[in-house]
Amino acid sequence: MPSNRDYYEILGVSRDSDEDEIKKAYRKLALKYHPDKNSGDKVAEERFKEAAEAYEVLRDAEKRKIYDLYGHDGLKGTGFTGFSGFEDIFSTFGDIFEDFFGFGGRRSRRTRVRRGSDLRYDLRLNLEEAYRGKEEEIVFEKWGSCEICSGTGMTPGSEPGICPNCDGRGEVVHSQGFFQIRTTCSTCNGTGQVIVDPCRRCNGKGKIRGERRVLVKIPPGVDTGIQLRIKEEGESGENGGPPGDLFVVIYVNEHDFFIRDGDDLRCQIEVSFVQAALGAEVSIPVLGDDEERRIDIQEGTQPGEIIRIKGDGMPSLRRGRGYGDLFVQVMVKIPTRLSQRQRELLMKFSELETQKIGAKTREFWDKIKGI
Ligand SMILES: [Zn+2]
Ligand SMILES: [Zn+2]
Repeated sequence: MPSNRDYYEILGVSRDSDEDEIKKAYRKLALKYHPDKNSGDKVAEERFKEAAEAYEVLRDAEKRKIYDLYGHDGLKGTGFTGFSGFEDIFSTFGDIFEDFFGFGGRRSRRTRVRRGSDLRYDLRLNLEEAYRGKEEEIVFEKWGSCEICSGTGMTPGSEPGICPNCDGRGEVVHSQGFFQIRTTCSTCNGTGQVIVDPCRRCNGKGKIRGERRVLVKIPPGVDTGIQLRIKEEGESGENGGPPGDLFVVIYVNEHDFFIRDGDDLRCQIEVSFVQAALGAEVSIPVLGDDEERRIDIQEGTQPGEIIRIKGDGMPSLRRGRGYGDLFVQVMVKIPTRLSQRQRELLMKFSELETQKIGAKTREFWDKIKGI
């Protein structure tokens, strides 16, 4: 959306100012509101875009004339739409940003506008945290544009010197027989200029390594390997390029009780052989707000049988709603030590069992005989 404010007012110049004054005014604003220096500041972002738009119109004699005569509406008639975002601005005004951040001067050559590198941050969570999701402030180091020299690496107000290696030509010529081979000067990277008075804050690098804190919102249901992308929190770009992104890579620790299987959880519980035989109600821990779930062990439950509890698994990140299930495997514990009384009772029980089995066996033998 194009701005509605007066373009001369935005740049702070008079209606009869010349090209040079307009350019200077724009530079000043672009530096002040540059996204590298105002990360996340919405107002600065608006000012930066507004200034770019005003400059885009006023630097162009044709557009300026239309604007002077018919205002914003006149420009709309020409299909002028302003800028969609930073990328758009940087690619249109690449030259002017090179001038700011490279070495603006008579021999200035193309310095490449480069997007900053992406960064990776490994974040460990336990299963409870992965279940609930959380906000976590992560602290890491990254290179940011030096605020003192605005990334130029030069003491503010100082002038660059001519590169001694290439005499300011930006390229070096080697002779090889009849041929002459030109290569970009490695001392000045083709700019033809060198820093004479390096910025003391960043030692001439134009960037500073500093601590950065970012609040990361971790959605419920994350799993190991999930990457959360946080836009423009990577390293700052070079020569006015946009910053890279930050990728937070999630690792979920193994849990003592639950084994995760996608959105589902698995666990094992132990019941006595009496509970398995007679049926019982037992309670097991769950991750949700209830913390505990009572489940029915049916009469005659076999060792290894699995009980499915719907909705007690992990929140589903993929579906964005709902939960997986919990599968409880019932392990039957056989007592290793019996009291005298228990032994007696089991012996009695056993007698009943043998009679039953005995009866069956007889039946079986009878059948065989019958054949
Ligand atoms: Zn500096
Ligand atoms: Zn050089």
